[in-house]
Amino acid sequence: MRADLTTPADRRAALDTAARLRHLPEADRDIIRLAGDPLFPRLLEQITSTGGCAHPVHLTGHTTTRNTTTGEILHHYDTRTEPGERLLVRCRNRRASICPPCSRLHAGDTFHLVRAGLTGGKTVPQDVRDHLRLFATLTAPSFGPVHRATTDRERCRPRRNAGTCPHAAPLSCTAHHTEDDPLVGQPLCSGCYDYTGHVLWHAHAGQLWDRFTRATRRHLATLAGIPQSHFPRHARLSFAKVAEYQRRAAIHVHAVIRLDGPDGPHTPPPPWGTVDALTTAVRTASVTVTVTTPYTPALGEHALRWGAQLDTRPLHAALDDPDGLADDAVAAYVAKYVTKSAADTTAGADHRLRTPDDIDAIPASPHVRTLMHTSWRLGSLPELAHLHLRAWTHTLGYRGHILTKSRAYSTTYAALRAERAVHQGAVDVQAVDGADAVTEAHWRYSGSGHSVGSALIAAGIAEDRAESLQLYREARDDDARFAAQSWEVKP
Ligand SMILES: [Zn+2]
Ligand SMILES: [Zn+2]
Ligand SMILES: [Zn+2]
Repeated sequence: MRADLTTPADRRAALDTAARLRHLPEADRDIIRLAGDPLFPRLLEQITSTGGCAHPVHLTGHTTTRNTTTGEILHHYDTRTEPGERLLVRCRNRRASICPPCSRLHAGDTFHLVRAGLTGGKTVPQDVRDHLRLFATLTAPSFGPVHRATTDRERCRPRRNAGTCPHAAPLSCTAHHTEDDPLVGQPLCSGCYDYTGHVLWHAHAGQLWDRFTRATRRHLATLAGIPQSHFPRHARLSFAKVAEYQRRAAIHVHAVIRLDGPDGPHTPPPPWGTVDALTTAVRTASVTVTVTTPYTPALGEHALRWGAQLDTRPLHAALDDPDGLADDAVAAYVAKYVTKSAADTTAGADHRLRTPDDIDAIPASPHVRTLMHTSWRLGSLPELAHLHLRAWTHTLGYRGHILTKSRAYSTTYAALRAERAVHQGAVDVQAVDGADAVTEAHWRYSGSGHSVGSALIAAGIAEDRAESLQLYREARDDDARFAAQSWEVKP
């Protein structure tokens, strides 16, 4: 190794360059080989239709649609005539670190899915715009003080005569930290930090959320003066939530909560469903719900709760309320988080870990690595076996989806994909629409990924797509940032 390549970034850059130089002639050779194939135009079409997916799935098989009465073949497709006798389909990975084009598509779908629940469209009636809607941010509790980013003259955690902890670490920090300071989010003392509590909280965050939604319904019923068991006769509460990793590597939950009438979005919410009532119900539920972990001789029992910080904002179609948020801004904000993996926020890894050695190989902070080791270690306790903590070590014990929603909230990812397939002509609309047609299909997975040459072609296509989308997205993100500034909750 050369002496001047001192930092890991320097070494990585040097390796990247070396790798590129080594691969370029090979990629050139591969592109020449591909372009020489008479089916090359069709290969280009396939790569284009996946949007330049970085890890496409290869399928082989055939599909035939017949008229059930006459037996006439209305549509037939077989991969035997395709380049390499296979069809490329998107990997559909939501993570930008794994497949940028698919993650962009996923973010777009999320935007439409969340937006439809806010303003109608995609099978959701326009009336939901007038239903009571709240945007709430629920936080994790404190597991110990961490360094925080400061503004202007503000100091991190100044405490007069604070002294030191049992590990001889100062209990006060009078430094200024910028957003990019690697200390931000790291504990003042890792010996005092409750790593077990943090991982257990992540592992039960889904359960805590379920109890929170049930308690919100109960409190709303009480406020309305109706028996709790009658709530479904009067109203339905639906939601979409997204998990976001904070700098201290604990998740926050951002949620859209909507109150509908008893039959969902098609029925008007009851008159007692006011902003004040829903806000009070949400606040009460967030402070009262608890999940108690199973007792283990090593850990005892942990009572897990939401953090004291809670932010709630009413949502309005038109921004006439200074505290309110615009629908599009919220949908864009939520969509932004689903493309991130734990790794993007430097709070984990984007793949499962197989051994404790894998943890040390990850470019993460000591804090994140300690969380991973804690998750791995807790994964060996028989009383906690049901939490599968080793399988969720890469997400620091958080086992939920990044985006979850209740059934009545809006459309589904599957419906959005089907709609797109029809638009792109991938489905023979006539054949599918005909009531007396039957489709027979046989598909088999036959591999994944690209050759070096087709990877370059795909990257080029993905880049073109990204550029044409950029102007639209920039405008949208500006709106989201503008709205987000006023209510973002600091770690
Ligand atoms: Zn992909
Ligand atoms: Zn500090
Ligand atoms: Zn300490």
